[in-house]
Amino acid sequence: TGIEELLLSRIRDVQDYPEPGVTFKDITPLLADPAAFTVLTDALAEISVRSGATKIVGLEARGFILGAPVAVRAGLGFIPVRKAGKLPGATLGQTYDLEYGSAEIEVHAEDLSADDRVMVVDDVLATGGTAEASLQLIRRAGARVAGVAVLMELGFLGGRARLEPALEGAPLEAL
Ligand code: 5GP
Repeated sequence: TGIEELLLSRIRDVQDYPEPGVTFKDITPLLADPAAFTVLTDALAEISVRSGATKIVGLEARGFILGAPVAVRAGLGFIPVRKAGKLPGATLGQTYDLEYGSAEIEVHAEDLSADDRVMVVDDVLATGGTAEASLQLIRRAGARVAGVAVLMELGFLGGRARLEPALEGAPLEAL
C-alpha cells in the first residue's frame, strides 16, 4: 500500500550497527518527516482503538517516542515500560533472555488494573524477547492484553513465533 511504501522509504539501513554483521533499521528519518510520523501515529492509534485498548504501553526507548503520540491520538493513557532501575515507584519486573545474558524491564504496577486492556507499541519487533516480557508484565499486573503493534517486524528473526504463546490469541500487527 501507499502507507507501507512511505514508511519504508523513511527507514534507513545502517550496516554493522550495533556490531559487525548486523543491519540496524534506523527510524530517525521517519521521525524527522512530519507527514510520515503522522501517518505512522494515526495507523498505530487506529489499530489500538479498533482493538478496544484502554492503555498504551510503550517500550523504552523508541516505544516511548511512538507510543506517547499514539496514546494522545487514540485518547488513551500511556504507560512506560522501562529498563530496570529507572522508575521511582513500586515496580513489577520481568527478566528475559538475550543472545548473551539477560535483561530486565519494569512497570509501575499501580498504573494497570483488571479493567485495562493494553496495547504494546514499539518500533521494531526483532527476536520478540522484549515484547514477550512486556506481555508477561502486563498480565502479572492484573491487566489484559489487547495486542502488540509495531512499525516493523524483522521476519527472519522469528519474533512472531516466539511471541505467539504469550499473545494468547491477541493480534500482533506490523505496519
Ligand atoms: P527484540 O527483543 O524483539 O529482539 O528487540 C526489540 C527491541 O530492540 C525493540 O525495543 C527495538 O527498539 C530494538 N531493536 C532491535 N533491532 C532493532 C533495529 O534494527 N532497529 C531499531 N530501531 N530497533 C531495534
